[in-house]
Amino acid sequence: MRPLTLRTKLTLFYSITVSVLLTGFAFIYYHVLSAGLDRDLTEEVRDRTSGLRGYLRFEEGQPVLNYDSNDPGEVSFINTATRYYQVYEIRSGTLLSESDELRAAGVEYSPADVARYARQSPFFIDIHTDQGKLRLLNEAVPAEGDAYLLVVGGSMQPMEDTVNSFLEALVWLIPSGVLLAAIASWFMAGKALEPVAALAKAAGDIAVSRLDRRLPVRGTNDELDNLASQFNGTLARLEKAVGEMKQFTASISHELRTPLAVLRGEAEVALMQSSSSDQYRRVLASQLEEFEKLTRMINQLLILARAESGEVEIAHEPVHISAMAQSIAEQLEPVAASKGLSLLWECRQNVTLNGDSGWIERIILNLVHNAIKFTSSGGHVHVRVSGDAKNAILEVRDDGIGIPTDAIPHIFERFYQADPSRSDRSEGVGLGLSLVKWAVDQHGGSVEVESTPGHGSRFVVKIPQQSH
Ligand code: ADP
Repeated sequence: MRPLTLRTKLTLFYSITVSVLLTGFAFIYYHVLSAGLDRDLTEEVRDRTSGLRGYLRFEEGQPVLNYDSNDPGEVSFINTATRYYQVYEIRSGTLLSESDELRAAGVEYSPADVARYARQSPFFIDIHTDQGKLRLLNEAVPAEGDAYLLVVGGSMQPMEDTVNSFLEALVWLIPSGVLLAAIASWFMAGKALEPVAALAKAAGDIAVSRLDRRLPVRGTNDELDNLASQFNGTLARLEKAVGEMKQFTASISHELRTPLAVLRGEAEVALMQSSSSDQYRRVLASQLEEFEKLTRMINQLLILARAESGEVEIAHEPVHISAMAQSIAEQLEPVAASKGLSLLWECRQNVTLNGDSGWIERIILNLVHNAIKFTSSGGHVHVRVSGDAKNAILEVRDDGIGIPTDAIPHIFERFYQADPSRSDRSEGVGLGLSLVKWAVDQHGGSVEVESTPGHGSRFVVKIPQQSH
């Protein structure tokens, strides 16, 4: 069986709710109405009986109604009250007087009934007659040393007619109410779900190759608009991620192809020429450099891949960043000196933080390495460690070639090199700063860069410090 659509479900739900409500109200109203009418009739019969008792006299054992026949009020009351009227003598059970209506209806008690009703007086009974249902009040009336049974009644027909016409009205009112509710909710559900269908169609049109597409936002600020905006947000993130992935794949292929082409070229040239073992040695030495670069790149890529897939655990141990920066600077000093640079450091003592010493070392190394790499002979590189109330602060400053302003937002991206021709290509592949950024983020810190092309760059890393 095909599953029900949301529209059908909503319509069914509304229709069932409306029919339950209507039937419930009708049921309650039916009971209130019939109980009210029943009570009114009982009261009316009771009033008639007590009224008639006031006029009833017995003369020589015969009932007489003693009223003023000139008083239209009394005449009208007597006429109504005696419509269903009988008087019995209790002792013998004889019917002494009765109205035409009761005679026509063929109502006559047996002496046993008369005695019983008199005992239970005042006693109501409902009886079925050819003239319809009647409610009779039987009341014993003592008079002239004897006792009589006064029977006064009222027709239950008007009450039953009213209740029946109410039920008849319900028979078509409830179904038509439910039908109306079903039609209205079918249209309303259709109208409300229209945007959902539009969203579904728009979402269906979006493929990986067309991630720049967005779902329509109608500006109504409702749940569906919110859904569309959220979905658009997801699409934007997806588009960015897929874009990065594409760029990453392209960069990797490019980065691998270049050194491989160099290796292959060198090998081909060496093989074509019959060379001396010295020349072979030179070719192999140069190839070793390319191999080293490839190994470095693949290692960095592996670290980055592991880091990004969440496999790398960051330790939380006290790291003496000032001592660490000083030792790195001391190690790199000869490298800087060989390029004709002066490397200076100024490390305030005892700056520590809570983190992973391996990653902190990588951060310092990469930044100082870059500073040396992008500064030409005669330049200066400064390494400074300090701390404020919250953070350990590492500052690496150089007066080298600087970074073009439009490149600054990209330098932390994987494989991004501001101008690969400016540096010695064998030295890097544009992964160092993405590792720095990842590690700083993992430590809850921040990294900022300021740079003026031609005048140098300044990297400032802030990492929450451990109090000591
Ligand atoms: P790599 O150094 O391997 O090229 P990085 O990710 O470490 O890659 O750096 C990315 C780019 O940022 C570099 O290619 C360079 O253009 C720029 N850059 C980084 N540090 C400096 C610096 N101190 N001075 C000038 N440019 C820099």
